[in-house]
Amino acid sequence: MSNPSILILPGDGIGPEVMTEVRKVITWFGEARDIQFDVSEDLVGGAAYDKHGTPLADETMARAQEVDAVLLGAVGGPAYDDLDFSVKPERGLLRLRKEMDLYANLRPAQCFDALADFSSLKRDIVAGLDIMILRELTSGVYFGEPRGIFEEGNERVGINTQRYTESEIERAARSAFELAMRRNKKVCSMEKANVMESGILWREVATRVGKEYPEVELSHMYADNGAMQLVRAPKQFDVILTDNLFGDILSDCAAMLTGSLGMLPSASLGAPMANGRPKAMYEPVHGSAPDIAGQGKANPIACILSFAMALRYSFDMGAEADRLEKAIETVLSDGARTADLLGEDGVDPISTSEMGDAVVAA
Ligand code: ATP
Ligand code: MG
Repeated sequence: MSNPSILILPGDGIGPEVMTEVRKVITWFGEARDIQFDVSEDLVGGAAYDKHGTPLADETMARAQEVDAVLLGAVGGPAYDDLDFSVKPERGLLRLRKEMDLYANLRPAQCFDALADFSSLKRDIVAGLDIMILRELTSGVYFGEPRGIFEEGNERVGINTQRYTESEIERAARSAFELAMRRNKKVCSMEKANVMESGILWREVATRVGKEYPEVELSHMYADNGAMQLVRAPKQFDVILTDNLFGDILSDCAAMLTGSLGMLPSASLGAPMANGRPKAMYEPVHGSAPDIAGQGKANPIACILSFAMALRYSFDMGAEADRLEKAIETVLSDGARTADLLGEDGVDPISTSEMGDAVVAA
């Protein structure tokens, strides 16, 4: 079988800086573990606009459709703020998500023990936390029709429509159960079936798909209660399955349980390809961070953890993903901190590159 293929799209701002550190990790896997990847690299966002006049060239899009996984840094920055909407850097990212039909957005909230004091919550609530939110990404109220601002009588009315088909719910639910099978076999589905028709259907379909996974314990929760439980006792969850709108809010909420933006990875998965692997794009949750770009201050861990997700979800290399996460845990326990992770006095921050080197060494 051929080597797993990866398309690296570093993008703008700190994107290329953190991706350089991921490259070191990929090289390490080749040398130390004899695991080879076919890596290609291309432009996205402002970097692509500068060269091609478009934030994502057609050839890059075609390549993204062929590879086993896309690894993206970040897009955008002040230099591109005045561009026409149609060529904004973010449009490159949106085109990738849309044409690859990446309907399952995975956002882990994982709290490394060494960083537990960074959380907005008390240490014992978050220490050891390791949960995963699966947000449906391509449908729901952000896309449903009718939408718009209309005249109604003598005033205007703003309308969005929460709309989910059975098949849209079904594929998202299936992803959540597949995920649960690789984790702790527990799914909590969140909607508002008490007040929303889409919520009633969501619950019904999630329950039906759940029957195909008898080993997985399925529970349901109203999303407002879910928000409360997430900050009260987040460790009760393992996989949370939810729609686009609730997932948007709940995943940002969960992110703050763990501390810095520089620590948060994500994956966006689509339908299985001919080789059985899902269409997939991995990226850190953070943006291009123009305020610190080019200064060697960025924390590369979010991007390295995104690669760990690729190992686990695209390449079925769970043990290697564990190995990489363990290395990060070791480095943090040893006290290595990029500037974003500095709390206590008397510790000097290390650079992006030093953090990457430390992870490789560990
Ligand atoms: P976007 O619109 O692309 O989401 P944003 O402006 O919302 O971008 P970021 O670019 O992620 O957000 O930056 C938000 C803040 O977090 C900035 O102050 C930035 O310096 C900091 N930050 C983001 N990512 C990192 C990182 N990897 N390491 C250190 N600091 C970071
Ligand atoms: Mg943002």
